[in-house]
Amino acid sequence: MAKVLIIGAGGVGNVVVKKCAQEKAVFTDILLASRTKEKCDAIAKDINHPSITTAKVDADQSSEVAALIKDFQPDIVINVALPYQDLAIMDACLETGVNYLDTANYEPPEEAKFEYKWQWAYQQRYQEAGIMAVLGCGFDPGVTGVFTAHALKHHFDEIHYLDIVDCNAGSHGHPFATNFNPEINIREITQKGKYYENNQWVEIDPFSIHRSVDYPEIGLKDSYVLYHEELESLVKNIPTIKRARFWMTFSQEYLTHLRVLQNVGLTSIEPIEYEGKQIVPLNFLKAVLPIPSSLGENYQGQTSIGCHIRGLKDGKQRTFYIYNNCDHAESYKEVGAQAISYTTGVPAMLGALLMVTGEWQGKGVFNVEQLNPDPFLEKLGKYGLPWHQLIDETPIFE
Ligand code: NDP
Repeated sequence: MAKVLIIGAGGVGNVVVKKCAQEKAVFTDILLASRTKEKCDAIAKDINHPSITTAKVDADQSSEVAALIKDFQPDIVINVALPYQDLAIMDACLETGVNYLDTANYEPPEEAKFEYKWQWAYQQRYQEAGIMAVLGCGFDPGVTGVFTAHALKHHFDEIHYLDIVDCNAGSHGHPFATNFNPEINIREITQKGKYYENNQWVEIDPFSIHRSVDYPEIGLKDSYVLYHEELESLVKNIPTIKRARFWMTFSQEYLTHLRVLQNVGLTSIEPIEYEGKQIVPLNFLKAVLPIPSSLGENYQGQTSIGCHIRGLKDGKQRTFYIYNNCDHAESYKEVGAQAISYTTGVPAMLGALLMVTGEWQGKGVFNVEQLNPDPFLEKLGKYGLPWHQLIDETPIFE
């Protein structure tokens, strides 16, 4: 029925392609393309699907992506390469008239800035071309936006307070490793924190706001406010929100390693000269850290990500909590990936499935909370991410 081009053969790409391959009736032809073709081949060789092929593409070059699209003629492009490639791939989709989906917003390589402005700028051109781009369809961003849209559609008249809480209570046995691309991850968490309150953004020092958050089936974990990209689109699309924050768990062990790496300059993205060559310290650090996709094998424990929401329903205050827990070892057993890659790859496949089956339709550039949450949440559990909601059963998340 649909042909899908998946770009990026890392931790998330591995999950997306395997989940697409499970839906043979929908994704009848799959092309997995990435910078290193051998990585695509290594993933594809374990997959049982009648029509799966691989290719090499440098997705920084829009013309290369466009050529691949013209040759393969996909119905949709799923971009799970790195955020740096978003605009080049969006350009290629525009040139060829093909729908687009990604899981992380564009980031300029020379500056750690997470903003939708570059991708939102495609709105008119995508509308005029009659094609659809769905931005940020992983877990966070992604499912967190769908959870919030579901809360607004079914349980609230007005949302006032939103706290997204993200816990990884898993243990991979390494003293220090990142769960997705180390460069992107460290750029995200070492920049200034930011949250939204009373129509403005409040900037804070990294890791300066912290509390113990109670996660279902896990218990209390140290959680820190940091900036996360879905906050930008959620406060724009749900203007009744008075305060929106994002919390993530970090162990003291992790924070100590990070502090040392920062203090010695290894997290910097400013190029330095080393033995006559320009290198970026953070790229070097990435090269010596464990590859995120290799962490799965011995990973134990769960992730738990959810949205604490407060607001009004029928004139009364309501508390609402909606979440998913995902087990690292079970994810590994199913697709050979840890839960961070799994919780990103499943929603990307599902978003693409809804687009090619027409359940999500539109012309222009969309964040997930602008789309109908019902078909997505109806199927999310079936594809491996069951979710739960508690209405007026949780204490107020102040
Ligand atoms: P990895 O680093 O494991 O994989 C990235 C892949 O992209 C690699 O195969 C890499 O190729 C490929 N790639 C990089 N540059 C290019 C290029 N110029 N052309 C073609 N391919 C390229 O990252 P992850 O799989 O962990 O993450 C993938 C995406 O998912 C990232 O954008 C990340 O931010 C996002 N993400 C989103 C989350 C969410 O919940 N929304 C959570 C986690 C991740 P090579 O192997 O040759 O380097």
